[in-house]
Amino acid sequence: MQKFDIMDIHEYQAKDILKQYGVKIQEGIVADNPEKALEAAKQLHAETGTSWYVVKAQIHAGGRGKGGGVKLAQSLNEVKEISEQILGMQLVTHQTGPQGKEVHKVLIAEDVYYPGENEPKEYYLSILLDRANNCNTIMASTEGGMDIEEVAAKTPEKIIKEPIDPSVGLLSFQARKIAFALGLEGNAFKEMVQFIGALYSAYENSDASMFEINPVLKTSDDKILAVDAKVNLDDNALFRHQDLAELRDLSEEDPLEVEASKSGLNYVKLDGNVGCMVNGAGLAMATMDIIKLSGGDPANFLDVGGGANPKTVEAAFRIILKDPNVKAILINIFGGIVRCDRVAKGVVEAYKNIGEIAVPIIVRLQGTNAEEGAKIIEESGLKVFPAILLKDAAEKVKEVLA
Ligand code: GDP
Ligand code: MN
Repeated sequence: MQKFDIMDIHEYQAKDILKQYGVKIQEGIVADNPEKALEAAKQLHAETGTSWYVVKAQIHAGGRGKGGGVKLAQSLNEVKEISEQILGMQLVTHQTGPQGKEVHKVLIAEDVYYPGENEPKEYYLSILLDRANNCNTIMASTEGGMDIEEVAAKTPEKIIKEPIDPSVGLLSFQARKIAFALGLEGNAFKEMVQFIGALYSAYENSDASMFEINPVLKTSDDKILAVDAKVNLDDNALFRHQDLAELRDLSEEDPLEVEASKSGLNYVKLDGNVGCMVNGAGLAMATMDIIKLSGGDPANFLDVGGGANPKTVEAAFRIILKDPNVKAILINIFGGIVRCDRVAKGVVEAYKNIGEIAVPIIVRLQGTNAEEGAKIIEESGLKVFPAILLKDAAEKVKEVLA
């Protein structure tokens, strides 16, 4: 399910942003077929001197390593073989759901866990928008590579939190405080301070709501590098970041959600069986609540917006009906600017255009010309049940599902 107001990007794209701001990264080149993956490895060898590589599936989900989407390759041949395995696979991680996500691209990166004087060590570092405290928060931990939720649950004392006043920005003592709390010394300390400063400016200048680097690696020769990067951009700020907006990968998003946004509908797919068509986000959420309260389970959030004309109603129907889980549809429209009789006509028209709709439809129209609207529905002769009160509507849903 897509989260509101957030645009996800791939690791390789996030690392590009980091690099632009001077954050040191594990270098890599993205590829969409095994031949290009091989070329990428050769180029990487020429640029960095590395002969060991890591092949990383690029999907919008974390936990790729555990799911078999991150693999070491110790020769060019292995890069090609592993890329063949990973490209096109349905990668299942704890964030993808059981159906997994198809891998279209791999990042061929240098293996930065090379042996040396010290053991390589992983850290966790993130910056997020802390809405509750009206600030940005930097979180850091010596427990890198693990899920931060797990660290928070088992060993919360191992998470360092530093609030950053957004109007002041990151102060240099704060970066030093974090590097010190992570137990770093010498060159690694210096590099971590620089890393945190550059990361903060990347976060701030791209209007992000989260930058999570897990792991940040201290290499065996005491360098600090971003090995992974997860970035959430703020959807509402993308109008002023054309370059970032172009990073959107529609193949990673739910096809129904993409289609809905093309029709100007705000749709989020959920797992239940009651399709909802509502005007206004607040009313849509209240409708989902009442469906739950009467024992049902919403199949989606759908805000048709203020217009609710026959065209949007028809587009909404088509999208809801593409979800095979939908067993009933509840339409809940409040006629404020839009009149209920017009909406009712729209529903009837859309219904006829689509042809036979196999699932029962409960229509609740309230507000301007509600009664005229209910009459149109009733007289249409279609398998549509009118309701005036929201509670009645929800109970009717339950009846038709029983
Ligand atoms: P995630 O599983 O989706 O979070 O993907 P990551 O990019 O964090 O990679 C998963 C794990 O792979 C990391 O925690 C590392 O332990 C390991 N890994 C990533 N890059 C390298 C590398 O260059 N060398 C080695 N040996 N391991 C790596
Ligand atoms: Mn990771």
